[in-house]
Amino acid sequence: MPDTTQQSLLEEINAEIRVCTKCSLHESRTNAVPGSGPVNADIMFVGEAPGFHEDQHAEPFVGASGKYLTDLLAGIGLKRSDVYITNIVRCRPPGNRDPFLSEIEACEPYLERQIQVIKPRIIATLGRFSMAYFLPKAQISKVHGQPVREGGRVFFPLFHPAAALRDPGLRDVMAADFQKMKALIEELEQNPPDDSPPPPKPKQLSLF
Ligand code: SF4
Repeated sequence: MPDTTQQSLLEEINAEIRVCTKCSLHESRTNAVPGSGPVNADIMFVGEAPGFHEDQHAEPFVGASGKYLTDLLAGIGLKRSDVYITNIVRCRPPGNRDPFLSEIEACEPYLERQIQVIKPRIIATLGRFSMAYFLPKAQISKVHGQPVREGGRVFFPLFHPAAALRDPGLRDVMAADFQKMKALIEELEQNPPDDSPPPPKPKQLSLF
């Protein structure tokens, strides 16, 4: 059962996000998209930014990428309601451009607070922006589909679902990476890590 204090804290953070004006992305958004999923989720997915459909519906990953993510989850026996899904920035960049570093920096305290409340066993990054935030030195081509333990957290870098929709050659890779994540989930269920200290902040954000 979710802890009601945790639930209230998460709702408080998400309410702040919905009215946030800390960066200029608030000017063009229809809705901010704080995230969705249970407060006691073991896995937290962190993508890049809301797109058109997400901005309209105030929900993360509801377009084609979202459907694909739902299918990938189903492939390892999970439903969307089993996991928490959010993005590195919570308002849609105009024209779906890449988020600016200043926007990521403005939005990141919300992400850190959500992580502190949800305490996921695994933070699965979707695409280079969220991976670069948590693991600035990592290269997606080298670390995708492998757990990376850093700062007391377990990260699991994945390609962004939109990348696999653009490049069908990545679909087998994504499916295989999700199977590896399933094995990691089972391993962590059998051998849960000790309570861990909060991680150090990344010193610099490198997106390349
Ligand atoms: S992207 Fe984040 S920091 Fe910028 S306005 Fe939206 S919620 Fe606030």
